Amino acid sequence: MKHISKKKVKIVATLGPASGSADMIKALAKEGVNVFRINMSHCPKPEVLERVKRIRAVERELGVPLSIMGDLMGPKIRIGDVEPGTELAVGGEICIGAKAVRGTAKEISLNFPTILKSLKAGNEIYIGDGQIKLIVKKTIPGGVLATVAVGGPLLSRKGFSAHGMTLKHMALTKKDREDTATLIEAGADAIAISFVQGPKDVEAIRNLLPKKNPPFLLAKIETQSGVDHADKILDVADGLMVARGDLGLSVPMADVPHIQKRLIALCLKRAKPVVTATQMLDSMASRPIPTRAEVTDVANAILDGTDGVMLSDETATGKFPVEVIRTMVSIIERATSEIGKRYFPEDTSIAGAIGASVVRVAEQIGAKLIVVMTEKGVTARRIARHRHMQPIIALSPHLETLRRLNFSWGVYGYRVPVMKSADDLLLQTKKIAKANDIMSLKEGDLFVVSASIPFGGASGTTNLALAQKV
Ligand code: PGA
Ligand code: MN
Repeated sequence: MKHISKKKVKIVATLGPASGSADMIKALAKEGVNVFRINMSHCPKPEVLERVKRIRAVERELGVPLSIMGDLMGPKIRIGDVEPGTELAVGGEICIGAKAVRGTAKEISLNFPTILKSLKAGNEIYIGDGQIKLIVKKTIPGGVLATVAVGGPLLSRKGFSAHGMTLKHMALTKKDREDTATLIEAGADAIAISFVQGPKDVEAIRNLLPKKNPPFLLAKIETQSGVDHADKILDVADGLMVARGDLGLSVPMADVPHIQKRLIALCLKRAKPVVTATQMLDSMASRPIPTRAEVTDVANAILDGTDGVMLSDETATGKFPVEVIRTMVSIIERATSEIGKRYFPEDTSIAGAIGASVVRVAEQIGAKLIVVMTEKGVTARRIARHRHMQPIIALSPHLETLRRLNFSWGVYGYRVPVMKSADDLLLQTKKIAKANDIMSLKEGDLFVVSASIPFGGASGTTNLALAQKV
């Protein structure tokens, strides 16, 4: 199994009817998928457990760590039921209120009407995936009056987004609480939290997690408030997702590329992973080749420095899931050769200094490989953010740690027994390096190893850097 390759950027693929079978999971993993995403909005518990079983079986068969990310629905704002056949005409006026009414062209309701309080005249409102556009004309008691800017058929329970809306103090939904329990039971490696507004939304999920080996928490940034509080959100989250789908409806769409760049830069600085998501190869849901604009978008996200790229409908319901992954891999391999190195001032900790020096030593001596002995993956992530070209392999006795590293740029994990000595570590490293001809290490090539001595200590205690010949 091709494990270490030029594919530094990780691929997250959403499972769905087009890809949920054991055969498809295996085919996609072989093409280069690192993380399988289960969308909890569309996947009932028995199906979640079944998919997890299938992914774990493929993981054992292929012998590479595969990760499972459950994506919570979050407080998704939707309009209520609407009379069949309702059409909105451009220029018409419509009330959006707190009253639970059966919707018409004159009045609709929302499942979370309190957000209407945050709207002001001039705010843009989108229904569905932007098919209908309204402009707030004025606030009225309990809601807003809006003018139809782009009309069309209005369907029941479609999503509702508005520029400037805040969902302050939204309690955790019952569905998210239950889905979190399901994901813990299933042993998911990561949970993506939708519509995160601030650190409290992440803490609400964290409070439900076990203390031992909790899943990674990825905060999906898809509202203005999430963008505004990204730094504080990252204090409590393990990583971010640039969730461009809903983001593009909640902020002016022309802001999206710049928010993407800012969020990626922030995650690199904090040595936490970031996944860029949505519509990356959208046209491939129905065609076997992508548009030039899509290829350019994926490449640009990679040049921005993203750790991972995500596929949604392309692999969940699309006609060409395997071709999509092949396309993604080819763009990644090409773009990676154009990535510039990043430099980060390290803090004054021993682990920080050793992490930074591993990169410098590798560069200076022309090492072909960087090896990180890791408990929780902290040092591996610090090293990876420099975006240098040597492959990084992470060695750990903990499969959970290796799976969490599937979110990090350029790091590939190998499970090793608990090590007793530095000799042991060097022996294991050489064994793994030789077994992976793809690294094409030759006798006499140099590699750099970082570890913490004594072995098996707490996470973040890296204190050793060592250069050796294969
Ligand atoms: P979703 O999140 O696909 O769950 O909506 C991603 C996004 O909004 O971009
Ligand atoms: Mn979303």
